[in-house]
Amino acid sequence: MRTFLLAVAVLVAGCGQGSDSGRAPRNDGAVDLGPVAQADGLRSPEAGALDSGQDRDSTIDGGSSPDQVAELGTSPDLAVDLPISPDLAADINPAADLAADMASVPDLAADLRAGADLAADAGADLAATDTAGYATDTAVEAPGADGSAGGGCTLVDDIAVDSLRAIAISFPTYHDQVQIETYLRSVASALPAIATYKVLGQSGQGRDLPYLIINATCQASPPAIFANGTHHGDEPSSTEAALAIPAYLLRTSATDASVRSLLQTYAFYVMPLVNPDGFVSNTRENAAGLDINRDYSYPGRSDADSFKTVEAGLVKGLQEGVGFHAAIAYHSGAQEVLWPWCYTSDATADGIFFTAAGQKTAQAMNFAIYQQSYDDYPTQGEYIDYAYMRSHTLAATFEVSIAKAPSAALLAGVVDIACKGTVAWVQAVSDRDKGSLHALPATAAARRRFPLTTPFDGTNRLE
Ligand SMILES: [Zn+2]
Repeated sequence: MRTFLLAVAVLVAGCGQGSDSGRAPRNDGAVDLGPVAQADGLRSPEAGALDSGQDRDSTIDGGSSPDQVAELGTSPDLAVDLPISPDLAADINPAADLAADMASVPDLAADLRAGADLAADAGADLAATDTAGYATDTAVEAPGADGSAGGGCTLVDDIAVDSLRAIAISFPTYHDQVQIETYLRSVASALPAIATYKVLGQSGQGRDLPYLIINATCQASPPAIFANGTHHGDEPSSTEAALAIPAYLLRTSATDASVRSLLQTYAFYVMPLVNPDGFVSNTRENAAGLDINRDYSYPGRSDADSFKTVEAGLVKGLQEGVGFHAAIAYHSGAQEVLWPWCYTSDATADGIFFTAAGQKTAQAMNFAIYQQSYDDYPTQGEYIDYAYMRSHTLAATFEVSIAKAPSAALLAGVVDIACKGTVAWVQAVSDRDKGSLHALPATAAARRRFPLTTPFDGTNRLE
């Protein structure tokens, strides 16, 4: 404990001196929000952290091919054999029934056309917005800006009912590593025009880190969202949360024009298993006994002194290759929405955005707590700090369930909440990009502070 306290004192002193050296330019902060957000009485992280000095002394973490996608109602059966429950479509939420019910196809098609019109309107707004200021993804084109016929991107419109059925997945229980890989492959097989299966590399014990890219934007390099789970191997609900995202987005887009617009704007990189070795062994750390989510660089630690784990090194390659516009790292062990910084109580240059986005997301998830991650408890080396520092990624940690491994009976509900939160976060990012993010009225019970009277041994409160 005393060692930790000393470490905190050194860290805090160091942060005040040279911690900005590795940060991305802070040139796009509150200006994107507009006067409404400012006027709504947004609670800034600073405003709620009047007693943050106590934290510093109390706790520290220890550690297209369109022809492949058939017309609605006339598609060949693209269903693939899944090793997962074969009657999945019946188990998922009622929205899937719409897709499964062929009699509803005309209505569905009408909804899709209506959605395309809305998306085209949104695209026009987006094109008129100055998106300069992002570190890596300034070239945000409106759907249809590539000259496609009709002024709109058609990839989402053309997703066949059979394809939606083929990618359906349910969560009556947890999926194992083989099932996860097979499912991700099956999505790419069912939706070749928009989904790509990739393997980022191999873990310390040689297991693949598979991921799926969903790109329905009609652009080669759209701004991208990174959804990852299982930094910690003993948090399997985080795995399932990530696994659920592709089908949820695609299914929901059939009836929700706002989700369609998100899919037509952003590519989604979905990686359920950042730590496959820990997942298999049900350990927080990787096979080398290291916590991957304390291994990234951050403004207080260089790359050279970080990335000791092969897995964080692989994520670094992806992060720097893509330069994600936004990201969500799913974890479990609490119900919270958290954002950078983790290592300091200082707010980021995007603190106002993060607070507004966190608030909206927590509301969508029916969570009471949203806060800067430091205010949960201080950590060094988390993915979200690294991503924000390196790529100005609008990154969040979602703690999706109180239990790290909730019972199977609760799993589907946890997954659904995680998906709703993901849409809310990305919608907030989209609103920000369009200059139309408006804050909700501030709420009182927005923060959880680490209970200062609780003995902290460096092993508890790790999520
Ligand atoms: Zn975790």
